[in-house]
Amino acid sequence: MANFNTHVCGATAGSCLLATLCQRADFIDTNGAFVLAFAGIIGGILPDIDLKYSHPSKIVFTTLGLLLAMLWVFATGSRLSIIELWVFGLLVFLFVRYPLWAIFHQFTVHRGSFHSIAAALMFGLFAVVVASHIFDVNDRLAWLTGIFVASGYILHLTMDEIYSVDFLGHRIKKSFGSALKPVDFDRLIPSALIILFALIAALYTPPSDGLISQLLEAETYAKLVDGFLPNGIPDYLAKFFPL
Ligand SMILES: [Zn+2]
Repeated sequence: MANFNTHVCGATAGSCLLATLCQRADFIDTNGAFVLAFAGIIGGILPDIDLKYSHPSKIVFTTLGLLLAMLWVFATGSRLSIIELWVFGLLVFLFVRYPLWAIFHQFTVHRGSFHSIAAALMFGLFAVVVASHIFDVNDRLAWLTGIFVASGYILHLTMDEIYSVDFLGHRIKKSFGSALKPVDFDRLIPSALIILFALIAALYTPPSDGLISQLLEAETYAKLVDGFLPNGIPDYLAKFFPL
Protein backbone atom coordinates (compact mmCIF):
# COMPACT_ATOMS: atom_id res chain seq x y z
CA MET A 1 0.00 0.00 0.00
CA ALA A 2 1.08 3.55 -0.53
CA ASN A 3 1.74 5.89 2.40
CA PHE A 4 -0.46 8.81 3.41
CA ASN A 5 1.59 11.53 1.67
CA THR A 6 1.62 9.57 -1.58
CA HIS A 7 -2.17 9.20 -1.40
CA VAL A 8 -2.74 12.90 -0.69
CA CYS A 9 -0.36 13.97 -3.52
CA GLY A 10 -1.80 11.45 -5.99
CA ALA A 11 -5.39 12.42 -5.19
CA THR A 12 -4.62 16.16 -5.36
CA ALA A 13 -2.86 15.85 -8.72
CA GLY A 14 -5.54 13.57 -10.19
CA SER A 15 -8.51 15.63 -8.98
CA CYS A 16 -6.97 18.96 -10.08
CA LEU A 17 -6.29 17.61 -13.60
CA LEU A 18 -9.86 16.31 -13.85
CA ALA A 19 -11.36 19.50 -12.34
CA THR A 20 -9.53 21.58 -14.98
CA LEU A 21 -11.23 19.53 -17.71
CA CYS A 22 -14.66 20.02 -16.06
CA GLN A 23 -14.05 23.78 -15.79
CA ARG A 24 -12.93 24.10 -19.42
CA ALA A 25 -15.94 22.06 -20.60
CA ASP A 26 -18.15 24.63 -18.77
CA PHE A 27 -19.57 22.05 -16.34
CA ILE A 28 -18.55 24.16 -13.33
CA ASP A 29 -17.25 27.60 -12.32
CA THR A 30 -14.15 28.33 -10.21
CA ASN A 31 -15.97 27.58 -6.92
CA GLY A 32 -17.14 24.28 -8.37
CA ALA A 33 -13.56 23.41 -9.33
CA PHE A 34 -12.46 23.89 -5.70
CA VAL A 35 -15.34 21.72 -4.43
CA LEU A 36 -14.44 18.95 -6.90
CA ALA A 37 -10.72 19.09 -6.05
CA PHE A 38 -11.60 18.78 -2.32
CA ALA A 39 -14.00 15.89 -3.12
CA GLY A 40 -11.25 14.05 -5.02
CA ILE A 41 -8.79 14.48 -2.12
CA ILE A 42 -11.39 13.22 0.38
CA GLY A 43 -12.02 10.21 -1.89
CA GLY A 44 -8.27 9.56 -2.00
CA ILE A 45 -8.03 9.40 1.81
CA LEU A 46 -11.33 7.64 2.60
CA PRO A 47 -10.31 3.98 2.00
CA ASP A 48 -7.83 4.16 4.89
CA ILE A 49 -10.52 4.94 7.48
CA ASP A 50 -10.14 1.25 8.29
CA LEU A 51 -6.47 1.46 9.34
CA LYS A 52 -5.97 -0.76 12.36
CA TYR A 53 -3.12 1.17 14.02
CA SER A 54 -4.35 4.04 16.07
CA HIS A 55 -1.75 6.73 15.12
CA PRO A 56 -2.24 6.64 11.32
CA SER A 57 -6.00 6.23 11.64
CA LYS A 58 -6.07 9.39 13.81
CA ILE A 59 -4.20 11.27 11.04
CA VAL A 60 -6.78 10.07 8.48
CA PHE A 61 -9.74 11.13 10.62
CA THR A 62 -8.15 14.46 11.58
CA THR A 63 -7.56 15.27 7.88
CA LEU A 64 -11.04 14.13 6.85
CA GLY A 65 -12.63 16.09 9.70
CA LEU A 66 -10.75 19.28 8.75
CA LEU A 67 -11.61 18.96 5.03
CA LEU A 68 -15.29 18.25 5.72
CA ALA A 69 -15.55 21.11 8.25
CA MET A 70 -13.95 23.53 5.75
CA LEU A 71 -16.23 22.39 2.93
CA TRP A 72 -19.29 22.74 5.16
CA VAL A 73 -18.35 26.23 6.38
CA PHE A 74 -17.55 27.55 2.87
CA ALA A 75 -20.63 25.98 1.26
CA THR A 76 -22.98 27.26 3.99
CA GLY A 77 -21.20 30.64 4.13
CA SER A 78 -23.94 33.08 3.31
CA ARG A 79 -26.86 31.30 4.97
CA LEU A 80 -25.85 31.43 8.67
CA SER A 81 -24.34 33.95 11.09
CA ILE A 82 -20.56 33.93 11.52
CA ILE A 83 -20.71 32.53 15.05
CA GLU A 84 -23.01 29.68 13.90
CA LEU A 85 -20.56 28.85 11.08
CA TRP A 86 -17.62 28.68 13.50
CA VAL A 87 -19.48 26.61 16.09
CA PHE A 88 -21.06 24.16 13.60
CA GLY A 89 -17.78 23.90 11.64
CA LEU A 90 -16.00 22.93 14.87
CA LEU A 91 -18.77 20.41 15.66
CA VAL A 92 -18.41 18.80 12.19
CA PHE A 93 -14.66 18.37 12.83
CA LEU A 94 -15.12 17.03 16.38
CA PHE A 95 -17.83 14.57 15.25
CA VAL A 96 -15.60 13.07 12.51
CA ARG A 97 -12.47 13.05 14.67
CA TYR A 98 -13.85 11.46 17.85
CA PRO A 99 -17.17 9.50 17.77
CA LEU A 100 -16.87 8.46 14.11
CA TRP A 101 -13.19 7.53 14.56
CA ALA A 102 -14.01 5.47 17.68
CA ILE A 103 -16.76 3.53 15.86
CA PHE A 104 -14.55 2.72 12.87
CA HIS A 105 -11.60 1.86 15.04
CA GLN A 106 -13.68 -0.73 16.91
CA PHE A 107 -15.32 -2.49 14.03
CA THR A 108 -13.23 -2.49 10.87
CA VAL A 109 -10.50 -4.72 9.43
CA HIS A 110 -7.78 -2.98 7.40
CA ARG A 111 -7.90 -3.70 3.69
CA GLY A 112 -11.19 -5.45 4.26
CA SER A 113 -14.47 -4.46 2.71
CA PHE A 114 -13.58 -0.75 2.46
CA HIS A 115 -10.77 -1.53 0.02
CA SER A 116 -13.19 -2.49 -2.77
CA ILE A 117 -14.84 -0.93 -5.81
CA ALA A 118 -18.26 -1.52 -4.20
CA ALA A 119 -17.19 0.79 -1.33
CA ALA A 120 -15.98 3.41 -3.84
CA LEU A 121 -19.45 3.40 -5.43
CA MET A 122 -21.16 3.60 -2.03
CA PHE A 123 -19.09 6.63 -0.93
CA GLY A 124 -19.57 8.24 -4.37
CA LEU A 125 -23.36 7.90 -4.03
CA PHE A 126 -23.24 9.17 -0.41
CA ALA A 127 -21.32 12.20 -1.68
CA VAL A 128 -23.99 12.90 -4.34
CA VAL A 129 -26.74 12.75 -1.69
CA VAL A 130 -24.82 14.90 0.84
CA ALA A 131 -23.84 17.48 -1.82
CA SER A 132 -27.41 17.71 -3.07
CA HIS A 133 -29.41 17.61 0.20
CA ILE A 134 -27.01 19.10 2.79
CA PHE A 135 -24.76 21.43 0.75
CA ASP A 136 -27.66 22.28 -1.54
CA VAL A 137 -25.58 22.40 -4.75
CA ASN A 138 -27.14 21.98 -8.21
CA ASP A 139 -27.75 18.46 -9.56
CA ARG A 140 -24.83 18.55 -11.98
CA LEU A 141 -22.29 19.61 -9.33
CA ALA A 142 -23.73 17.03 -6.90
CA TRP A 143 -23.16 14.19 -9.41
CA LEU A 144 -19.69 15.48 -10.31
CA THR A 145 -18.83 15.58 -6.57
CA GLY A 146 -19.82 11.91 -6.30
CA ILE A 147 -17.80 11.04 -9.42
CA PHE A 148 -14.73 12.81 -7.96
CA VAL A 149 -15.05 11.05 -4.59
CA ALA A 150 -15.38 7.65 -6.33
CA SER A 151 -12.48 8.40 -8.72
CA GLY A 152 -10.20 9.54 -5.85
CA TYR A 153 -11.18 6.36 -3.99
CA ILE A 154 -10.39 4.08 -6.95
CA LEU A 155 -7.08 5.92 -7.49
CA HIS A 156 -6.21 5.14 -3.84
CA LEU A 157 -7.00 1.42 -4.35
CA THR A 158 -4.89 1.38 -7.53
CA MET A 159 -1.98 3.08 -5.74
CA ASP A 160 -2.22 0.55 -2.89
CA GLU A 161 -1.85 -2.24 -5.46
CA ILE A 162 1.13 -0.59 -7.13
CA TYR A 163 3.12 0.37 -4.01
CA SER A 164 4.37 -2.08 -1.42
CA VAL A 165 5.02 0.53 1.28
CA ASP A 166 2.70 0.93 4.24
CA PHE A 167 1.08 4.03 5.72
CA LEU A 168 4.13 5.19 7.69
CA GLY A 169 6.62 4.32 4.95
CA HIS A 170 7.74 0.87 6.21
CA ARG A 171 8.35 -1.70 3.49
CA ILE A 172 5.96 -4.61 3.68
CA LYS A 173 5.36 -7.79 1.70
CA LYS A 174 3.41 -7.33 -1.52
CA SER A 175 -0.23 -8.01 -0.86
CA PHE A 176 -1.38 -7.89 -4.43
CA GLY A 177 -5.11 -8.17 -5.00
CA SER A 178 -6.12 -7.10 -1.50
CA ALA A 179 -6.96 -3.49 -2.40
CA LEU A 180 -8.49 -3.28 -5.86
CA LYS A 181 -11.25 -5.88 -5.72
CA PRO A 182 -14.88 -5.48 -6.84
CA VAL A 183 -16.38 -6.78 -3.56
CA ASP A 184 -14.75 -8.28 -0.43
CA PHE A 185 -15.97 -11.88 -0.70
CA ASP A 186 -14.06 -12.89 2.47
CA ARG A 187 -16.30 -10.68 4.61
CA LEU A 188 -19.81 -11.18 3.30
CA ILE A 189 -21.85 -9.33 5.93
CA PRO A 190 -19.93 -6.00 5.72
CA SER A 191 -19.90 -6.33 1.91
CA ALA A 192 -23.67 -6.93 1.80
CA LEU A 193 -24.16 -3.86 4.05
CA ILE A 194 -22.01 -1.73 1.69
CA ILE A 195 -24.15 -2.77 -1.30
CA LEU A 196 -27.36 -2.18 0.70
CA PHE A 197 -26.23 1.34 1.79
CA ALA A 198 -25.23 2.12 -1.82
CA LEU A 199 -28.70 1.11 -3.05
CA ILE A 200 -30.41 3.19 -0.33
CA ALA A 201 -28.22 6.23 -1.22
CA ALA A 202 -29.08 5.74 -4.92
CA LEU A 203 -32.78 6.24 -4.06
CA TYR A 204 -32.06 9.76 -2.77
CA THR A 205 -29.83 11.00 -5.62
CA PRO A 206 -31.08 13.92 -7.76
CA PRO A 207 -31.72 13.45 -11.53
CA SER A 208 -28.52 12.92 -13.53
CA ASP A 209 -29.90 13.52 -17.06
CA GLY A 210 -28.52 17.11 -17.25
CA LEU A 211 -24.94 15.92 -16.70
CA ILE A 212 -25.36 12.85 -18.91
CA SER A 213 -26.67 14.87 -21.87
CA GLN A 214 -23.77 17.32 -21.47
CA LEU A 215 -21.32 14.40 -21.36
CA LEU A 216 -22.81 13.04 -24.61
CA GLU A 217 -22.64 16.36 -26.49
CA ALA A 218 -19.89 16.60 -29.13
CA GLU A 219 -19.54 20.33 -28.28
CA THR A 220 -18.20 19.45 -24.79
CA TYR A 221 -15.25 17.57 -26.28
CA ALA A 222 -14.72 20.15 -29.04
CA LYS A 223 -14.16 22.77 -26.28
CA LEU A 224 -11.52 20.56 -24.64
CA VAL A 225 -9.71 19.81 -27.91
CA ASP A 226 -9.83 23.51 -28.88
CA GLY A 227 -8.45 24.71 -25.58
CA PHE A 228 -5.83 21.98 -25.12
CA LEU A 229 -2.89 23.64 -26.86
CA PRO A 230 -2.05 27.37 -26.98
CA ASN A 231 -3.30 29.24 -30.01
CA GLY A 232 -0.04 30.24 -31.74
CA ILE A 233 2.99 31.43 -29.75
CA PRO A 234 1.80 32.70 -26.33
CA ASP A 235 2.58 36.37 -25.51
CA TYR A 236 4.70 35.45 -22.50
CA LEU A 237 7.05 33.46 -24.79
CA ALA A 238 6.92 35.88 -27.73
CA LYS A 239 8.49 38.53 -25.44
CA PHE A 240 11.61 36.38 -25.02
CA PHE A 241 11.82 35.00 -28.55
CA PRO A 242 10.78 37.80 -30.93
CA LEU A 243 10.45 36.42 -34.47
ZN1 LIG B 1 -5.31 1.95 1.44
